[in-house]
Amino acid sequence: MIDPWSSSVIDYEKLTEQFGIKPFVGFLDEINDPPSLMSRGIVFGHRDYGRIVKALREGSNFAVVTGMMPSGKMHIGHKMIVDQLIWYQKKGAEIYIPIADMESYSARGVDFEKSRKLAITEYITNYIALGLNFKAKNFHIYLQSENKDVQDLAYKLAKKVNLSEMKAIYGFSNSTNLAHVYVPLIQVADILHPQLSKYGGPKPIVVPVGPDQDPHIRLTRDIALRFKKIFKFIPPSSTYHRFITGLTGEKMSSSKPKTAIFLSDSPEIAEKKIKSAKTGGKETLDEQRATGGTPEDCVVYEMLLYHLTPDDDELRKIYNDCREGNVMCGECKQKTADLMKDFFRNFSRKREKAELLAGKILE
Ligand code: SF4
Repeated sequence: MIDPWSSSVIDYEKLTEQFGIKPFVGFLDEINDPPSLMSRGIVFGHRDYGRIVKALREGSNFAVVTGMMPSGKMHIGHKMIVDQLIWYQKKGAEIYIPIADMESYSARGVDFEKSRKLAITEYITNYIALGLNFKAKNFHIYLQSENKDVQDLAYKLAKKVNLSEMKAIYGFSNSTNLAHVYVPLIQVADILHPQLSKYGGPKPIVVPVGPDQDPHIRLTRDIALRFKKIFKFIPPSSTYHRFITGLTGEKMSSSKPKTAIFLSDSPEIAEKKIKSAKTGGKETLDEQRATGGTPEDCVVYEMLLYHLTPDDDELRKIYNDCREGNVMCGECKQKTADLMKDFFRNFSRKREKAELLAGKILE
């Protein structure tokens, strides 16, 4: 069972085999100008993405839904979702961003006012600074607690879901509070409501998520079919991306500050964090020169792969130089730390500007 609220270790191959997530790689030739997150295999799996490829090819209407749960600080791994949203926005998709304050309340105990503030000062500010256009046509952002259409739909959908099903999917026990049991239905409604007639009717929808969120996707797809006659829902598609490894080698997590580079870090702190990150280097320089490093096990390399080296040829050279023992970790870390520092210098300036706009988004 995958637990979306606490999952930490992910076996990507097992996921594709056991849960029916399909490999994404087959779509790469069919997508015009795929982002590097796709072409580099970071987006590794999907459900029913063919519908989205078709919509991209034909220029027909489709939507992307991805929530933000304001419960802590955003780290650099969260940037992946925003990068994908920016790409989809440029491709003409409708963008829906539910702010999961109801989930934050029921699963993490964060009160609604705090969620709202955190959404503005942390999430919305970062999303704007990273380049997502909040003023674009077809862009929608809302608090779950303030969206009556979503709440009404969740209530209607709940009619065809029972408690034993929720227990089987999420592992809820007799002591789980009922707000926590109910809130997945709000998320299902978040994903499906863009297909209501008020929002333009049935359309393909894609939800880009980490694999820990797959239980929500499976539940949503099942419920979409149960209500097909009434609402004509098309089951949503999904894509799955790998998690970025934390600085210490475990999963990067906001609740474990030693693992994370936060988007609110100063350029100097971000630089320092890269210098202390776990690498795939060997014990001695001689050994590394002789047998090379292991970029696949290197957090520094992952930062280059995910965020800091847009040029594929350059990245390939770094990979080969590491593999062949032509570069040592000290030098490689320094270069990466410099790139990270530059990114954060630039990003801090953008954050300052974004703060002004972010304050007005939920007014
Ligand atoms: Fe990582 Fe660079 Fe060391 Fe290779 S040389 S293991 S990529 S830090």
